[in-house]
Amino acid sequence: EHDEQATRERGQALSQLRLSEERYRTVFDQSPAGLLLFDSELIVTRCNARLSELFHNPEEAIVGYDLHSLSEPGLAAAIGVARDGALGVFEGRFANPFNEGKELWISARTAPLFDACGRPAGGVGIIVDLTESKRAEELIERLAFNDTLTGLANRTLLRDRLRAALLGVARAHWQVAVLYVDLDRFAAVNDLVGHAGADRVLQEVAARLAPLVRATDTLARWGGDEFVVLLGDVNGEEAATRVAEQIAAALAAPWRIDGRQFALSASLGLAVAPHDGSDAATLLEHVAIAARRAKAAGGATFRFYDAEMGREVSERVRLEAELRVALERHEFVLYYQPQVDLARNEITGVEALVRWQHPQRGLLPPAAFLGLAESTGLIEQLTAWVVDEACGQAAAWRDQGAPQLRMAVNLSARDFRSERVVGLVAGALKRSGLAPSLLEVELTETAIVEDGAATARQLEALQDLGVTVALDDFGTGYSSLSHLRTLPISRVKIDRSFVSQVSDERRSAAIVGAMIDLIHSLGLEAIAEGIETQEDLNFLRGYACDLGQGYLFSRPL
Ligand code: C2E
Ligand code: MG
Ligand code: MG
Repeated sequence: EHDEQATRERGQALSQLRLSEERYRTVFDQSPAGLLLFDSELIVTRCNARLSELFHNPEEAIVGYDLHSLSEPGLAAAIGVARDGALGVFEGRFANPFNEGKELWISARTAPLFDACGRPAGGVGIIVDLTESKRAEELIERLAFNDTLTGLANRTLLRDRLRAALLGVARAHWQVAVLYVDLDRFAAVNDLVGHAGADRVLQEVAARLAPLVRATDTLARWGGDEFVVLLGDVNGEEAATRVAEQIAAALAAPWRIDGRQFALSASLGLAVAPHDGSDAATLLEHVAIAARRAKAAGGATFRFYDAEMGREVSERVRLEAELRVALERHEFVLYYQPQVDLARNEITGVEALVRWQHPQRGLLPPAAFLGLAESTGLIEQLTAWVVDEACGQAAAWRDQGAPQLRMAVNLSARDFRSERVVGLVAGALKRSGLAPSLLEVELTETAIVEDGAATARQLEALQDLGVTVALDDFGTGYSSLSHLRTLPISRVKIDRSFVSQVSDERRSAAIVGAMIDLIHSLGLEAIAEGIETQEDLNFLRGYACDLGQGYLFSRPL
């Protein structure tokens, strides 16, 4: 009876053991983590399918592997810890010995196993593959701090390094130099080799500059064709100058991309901390100003920042702020200069010329503020005001019973960029009730060249409104005769630089005569600008010039 009971119990224990063994096997085989067992000699005794997948090696080849041969010390230590009866962990890179040392990023946990008597008998390793997520993390890091095209540091990383370097300046009286490299005429290179080619040029610029900086310096791509070099702990201006010269020389070496040869140069700006600024933002701003100076001097050269440059820039910034205020407060006035029909000696129109009634500096001519208005885009607001005011004035004269005068207003190239100019003119005509045929817009050839097709379209739309178009400053710009033929132009204004010389220079006289003939042969009217003397006038009458404008008749009033 006793024996029977013992047999039954053993049977139950066995089947329970089998059940438990089966559960354990399922867990072992199906685990998404790689699992391996090793004995007290550190020989692998078993592994699961996931581990064999992870290590790129069949199970049979992993079983029997001696873990003493692991080259990764951290992982070897974690395994040793488990063999000695404790828990171990490891996370990091691991050169897979079963797959030509190909690198994996793993997280491993190890735990000891004991025999029936409680003695350590090897252990178990649980391994999770983190390679993909680490790669993603690294990619994010790279994208955040490196320029994707060149692999150089980006703005964020550069600013960071500069801040760190400036701490050294404050603490240890170091000098830190910043060098701004702006490639010259890169747009032309772009046209020559195309977008893909231009990308390769930028990559090669990075490759040419990289050897010139020390490992502790930072070479960064700042923007499109701009690079910045941070030289930590330099010996003053001389060392920075040397690097600048090396950069210029590296770029001067011949270029060949896609079988096309070309030359490249750069405008370089230099600034040294703490002399030219002690915080990153100031230093970067100053070095960019210096580079702009180098560019303004024709490029292929370098300039040190000096405080005078900063003053001029802050002057511009102030003027810009004032210009904004002036637009709000309507500090502008229009002066009008008559245009005279030369055959009948009769005023047929006026040109509106803007002035700025500056509260402190008095009446400013357009040359003092138009450039800034254009580069800042404020010109659009100014033009809107001018067109509105001019149309309103013309309508007022009409209502006072004055003879019908054509009103000419000047437009800038920049006005055509946003494609709002047609709507703006239409609005002004509507508000004033002025007949569209009494409004003329003047624009220079530069405006047409900048974006030919878009400008032509807008000019046609203006013509459809009934407005006429005059080509201003003819002869000074890109005088392409095809503009005269293809654009909806009614009048051409011969620039005053030609007109002022007709009476004392035979060649100028011949040119102006030929211009008038040409304009007439295209069925257009000629206006001479800047008529100052009776001789000028006589000459122009002789060539049957249609209209004239100038101090001889009247200054702008
Ligand atoms: P522009 O359109 O060629 O205007 C003629 C300029 O020549 C005016 O200078 C006028 O005062 C000047 N002028 C007229 N007759 C004579 C003369 O007999 N001798 C000399 N030496 N000069 C004469 P201003 O008013 O200083 O305007 C300069 C330029 O500014 C204009 O050249 C025009 O391009 C631009 N501008 C003027 N007003 C506006 C405006 O409202 N909007 C835009 N976008 N540009 C304007
Ligand atoms: Mg004009
Ligand atoms: Mg002109």
